[in-house]
Amino acid sequence: MFNVEHIRQDFPILNREVNGKPLVYLDNAATSQTPKQVIDVIVDYYSNYNANIHRGVHTLSQEATDAYEQARIKIQKHVNAKHTHEIIFTSGTTHGINLVANGFSSLLKKEDEVIVSALEHHSNIVPWQMLCERTGATLKVIPMNLEGELIMSEYDKLLSENTKLVFVNHISNALGTINPIEYIIEKAHAVGAAVLVDGAQSCPHIKPDVQDLDVDFYVTSAHKMCGPTGEGMLYGKETWLKKLPPYQGGGEMIAEVTFDKTTYADLPHKFEAGTPNICGGIAFGAAIDYMNAIGFDAIAKYEHELLDYATEKLLEIEGLKIYGTSKHKTSVISFNLEGIHPYDVGTILDKLGIAVRTGHHCAQPIMDFYKIPGTVRASFAFYNTKSEVDALVSGVKKAKMMLS
Ligand SMILES: *Cc1c(COP(=O)(O)O)cnc(C)c1O
Repeated sequence: MFNVEHIRQDFPILNREVNGKPLVYLDNAATSQTPKQVIDVIVDYYSNYNANIHRGVHTLSQEATDAYEQARIKIQKHVNAKHTHEIIFTSGTTHGINLVANGFSSLLKKEDEVIVSALEHHSNIVPWQMLCERTGATLKVIPMNLEGELIMSEYDKLLSENTKLVFVNHISNALGTINPIEYIIEKAHAVGAAVLVDGAQSCPHIKPDVQDLDVDFYVTSAHKMCGPTGEGMLYGKETWLKKLPPYQGGGEMIAEVTFDKTTYADLPHKFEAGTPNICGGIAFGAAIDYMNAIGFDAIAKYEHELLDYATEKLLEIEGLKIYGTSKHKTSVISFNLEGIHPYDVGTILDKLGIAVRTGHHCAQPIMDFYKIPGTVRASFAFYNTKSEVDALVSGVKKAKMMLS
């Protein structure tokens, strides 16, 4: 049974006050909060078995290695990857995308084309622009409509035998739109292109099945799904990971080193140079356990109730406009009050203890599309409540009164 009051007790931070008011944390699309089950794992690691992994014969090193590799298996099971070595630990989504983009530098030719979507986070735009600069390949963009959805008939037209790569987010961080990645993957594969899905926003809401999706690369960050910052994962199909060259050179990623020649370690270590965020990886596994114990279906259902409730209440405010109105969206509401800068609304909400994000949300092309400087973004997690939505709505009303 999903019981939000019970769940909230797992999150110590939700008890604090901000500016003399109870914290109302609605910035979950930027980073999620951390339950004590995950905090305990972090404390236990540094209190009891902190050691470097994979190299030591001593007990602490073996315990740390076991826990780290167990976490890799948890992630593998969670996304249903065929092999454990298809899971590469990274420092987050940005790192995973750069790893793949860099790898494709040696595989792309001048006449090749890569396709991105109009709904991307900067971290799923800039690395590909850099790739195109290096290789001479051309970047094409799937356009969006006013509801904040990608236009699939335009995508169909962009695809050709020159298309080598398509990269798209599963869910837009700025608008909450859930993109039709099944369709995008199927069509890309029909012309022989590989697909990278940025799952930073989907992983807190949806349990992805990478084999069922038949996706080539799937990346995410632990800190968007109750885990620590600076930690994430890249899933890649074994065939692709074997084809791509290593991203960074260093310790851990080699088989043998002489000054004449170095041979690389097998997967996954080929892509894991240097000492990783060991504790972060173990805590990522604990975060996945925590969320699975609640259940992704229950989480999605509850968050949808919050989304519907908040949308209805916010739209009662005159002059409030919501950006991103797709029927297929998660619990993200991007909005503006007519004639009022989003930053000013965010500042007043903070005075009331309400944390929202304001600005372009690392997605400037979307803001340009709507011809706005940015939005106020409230993003809800499964530990938020209807009374927090009420606090947001009354805060926005107050901001409107003070600023107009
Ligand atoms: C947060 C986010 C990223 C970047 O994640 P990092 O953890 O900062 O690397 C990329 N894409 C989307 C859609 C995001 O929401």
